[in-house]
This record gives sequence, C-alpha cells and structure tokens, in this order.
Amino acid sequence: MTNDHPRIAVVGAGLGGLLCATALHRYGIDTTVFEGDPGPDHRDQGGSLDLHEDTGQAALRTAGLHDAFMSLARPEDQEVREYDHTGRLVHREESPSSSSRPEIDRTALRGILLSALGEGGVRWGTPVRAVTPTPDGPARVTLGTGTVEEFDLVVGADGAWSRVRPAVCDTRPFYTGNTLVEMCFTDVEEHHPELSRTIGRGMMIAVDRSDTEHVLIGQRNGDGIRVYIGLKAPQDWAERASLDLSDSAAARTHFLKLFAVWHDDLLRAIREAKGPFINRPVHRLPYPHTWKHNPAVTLLGDAAHLMPPAGQGANLALIDAADLAGAIADAVTAGVPLGRAVAHYEEIMQPRGAVAAEQSARALEQ
Ligand SMILES: Cc1cc2nc3c(=O)[nH]c(=O)nc-3n(C[C@H](O)[C@H](O)[C@H](O)COP(=O)(O)OP(=O)(O)OC[C@H]3O[C@@H](n4cnc5c(N)ncnc54)[C@H](O)[C@@H]3O)c2cc1C
Repeated sequence: MTNDHPRIAVVGAGLGGLLCATALHRYGIDTTVFEGDPGPDHRDQGGSLDLHEDTGQAALRTAGLHDAFMSLARPEDQEVREYDHTGRLVHREESPSSSSRPEIDRTALRGILLSALGEGGVRWGTPVRAVTPTPDGPARVTLGTGTVEEFDLVVGADGAWSRVRPAVCDTRPFYTGNTLVEMCFTDVEEHHPELSRTIGRGMMIAVDRSDTEHVLIGQRNGDGIRVYIGLKAPQDWAERASLDLSDSAAARTHFLKLFAVWHDDLLRAIREAKGPFINRPVHRLPYPHTWKHNPAVTLLGDAAHLMPPAGQGANLALIDAADLAGAIADAVTAGVPLGRAVAHYEEIMQPRGAVAAEQSARALEQ
C-alpha cells in the first residue's frame, strides 16, 4: 500500500458499513464495499429507529448527513404507551416537543447513506466467504465465487453472523432464550384504524405482570405499524408446537390461544395480521467482547457487539463507523500505519459496546 491510498474493504452495506464508507469517502479515502444482497431493495430493512444525539446523530454529523437525516426524521413519533393485558393504559409519555431522538425508517436512512456514497459505491451480490490475515501484511478476502482480493484493512460490518469475525476470534452469537415474531401493517388508517389508535404515535408495550413469558410490542413506522410478539421460549418453539409459521391462519390461531386472557383491543394485532409472521430469534455475543488486535482486520456494529434489540444496536454501529473512519483519516494524514488507527478505535469501541450490551441484556430480562 501507499499510505495515501490504502486499500480498504468494508464487508456489509448495512447502516454501519455504509456510514464508514461514506465518511471515508468524505475524507477523500476510497473503499471497496462488498454486500451479499443483490441490490438495495432485495429485502425489507426492518422498522423505525430512534437516533440518539451522542451516537447515531453524531455519526451522521461526521458524515455530513445530519441535515438530510432531519429532513426525513419523524420527531413527532416518540410517544411511549404501556398497557396491561386487560387493555388498561398504565403509563404514557407524550412525544417531547423538542426531540433529541427523532425516529427514521431504516430504508430511508439507508437511502441517505447510499446516495451519499454514490452510484457504484457498493459491490452488490458479492458475498464474502472468509477473511484471512497474513503475518505483518495485508488481509485476503475470499469472495463467494472463490476469487481472492488483498486489502491493507478489512472492516467487518457484516452483522450478527459475520464472516469477518472468525479472522480475529472464534466467538459466536448465542440464543438469549427470547424470540420476537414480527407482523407488519400498512394502510393502517384505512384498514387498521383501531389498532393504530391503540399503538399511538410511537411505541407501545403490553405486558401481563403475572406472565413473564409473553409480551406485545407495537411500533409506529413512517409507512405503517409493526407489532412484535415477544416470547420467552426455546429456539425451536415453533417445531415443538408443530406450528408452520408460513401458514398464517395457523399462526393466528396459535397466538390467539397463547394470549387468550388478553383484552380484545390488544389482540386486534394478531387477528388482523395477514402475515407473514416473521420469526426473529434474539441472539447476542458475550460482553465485553474483545479480541487480539490485528492491524489489518477489525469489526464494527453487530459483528463486534451483537446485543438484544433495546434501541442501541444501530446507533452504536453508526458511531463505531464514524470513529473508525475518523481514526483512519487521521492515520493517513499523519502518515502512520493503519494498524494504529485500528488499535485506537478498538480501545474506544470495545468498552462502549460492552456497556451498551450489558444494558440491553438487562432490559431484555426486565
Ligand atoms: C427487531 C429488531 C429491532 C431493532 N430495533 C433497534 C432500534 O430501535 N434501535 C437501534 O439502535 N437498533 C435496533 N436494532 C439493532 C440494529 O438493527 C442492529 O444493531 C444494526 O442493524 C446493526 O447494523 P450493522 O451495520 O452492524 O449490521 P446489519 O444491519 O446487520 O448489516 C450487515 C450487512 O452485511 C451484509 N452481509 C452479511 N454477511 C455478509 C457477507 N458474508 N458478505 C457481504 N455482506 C454481508 C448484510 O446483508 C447486511 O446488509 C434492532 C434489531 C432488531 C432485530
């Protein structure tokens, strides 16, 4: 490599990988972004995110994209409602008038990052099979086709089941004992007006205090509503119940039975769900998650510190990416080896990830 033009690969065009590539692009440093999906619209990107001032939003400022974010954000959608299983509203927080955590749909946020990176910024349909560091040299990236390419630095931004992680450690995510089953609703004002009223303008959680194994969580999105059925259950819960989740009618019957004592207003989500019912087992990495520093390979976001969903994962992926990009840019400017940037970044990222992972694990238990 020449220090002016380091060869950097970012594996994964999720929020973290894209922000890293975009911020580096802004610093005048090109990257190769490998993404396994064939295109940006290949799969549903998931529900809304609220971006925190000191992490997600700070990262977008670094990449020069905060204004673009604010133009699509929904600060009005931050209400929080808690119901008990009888349908009684036990707690309500209205959306704050000045918001420090505006919501945005993932697809919209990813769109902002993709536009900033520009046409051709991502090598779609290019899954990475493995990454192999070489002693004191570049890292080899083996693509799904078997082709091998060399880079001075490989950034693993490839999420929970990272193919880059095994290059630095042998840790694997484990199942937390919790599963979310996701249901999506569009055209809610026309087809699901009562459900929409129950959820309100933000997030809704419904719990039965005498039953810690089932919960309903609703979330307002820009284009509709998502409701999650939370289950404390073995990972093979559906097989044990002889339930084929792709059979939506059978799934509805199963869940209505499971929540039989709950109020009808809350059960509307299950009754009105057309399907698909999407099974999302919740996995996490142990915390603190550290590895022996390798100057040519590092991780960010879920690849580095997968944690249960409690509102922090995407925010951390973004700030990890911004911090790493900044450290790389400083190293390039100072003419020092990239490995120093990686070490500096990991010193900040790993403890930060561990704190958030512990908080998220606690939140899940509660
Ligand atoms: C139900 C749910 C709700 C959540 N809610 C929130 C929330 O409200 N707030 C919040 O902050 N976080 C939330 N999270 C967590 C958040 O989604 C993740 O932490 C975040 O998406 C991590 O971003 P990432 O860029 O690290 O990884 P990802 O978003 O997983 O992106 C990884 C990318 O890498 C690609 N990839 C994977 N393997 C390969 C490969 N071998 N080669 C090439 N490409 C590959 C994938 O296709 C993907 O595009 C939630 C998670 C879940 C499951």
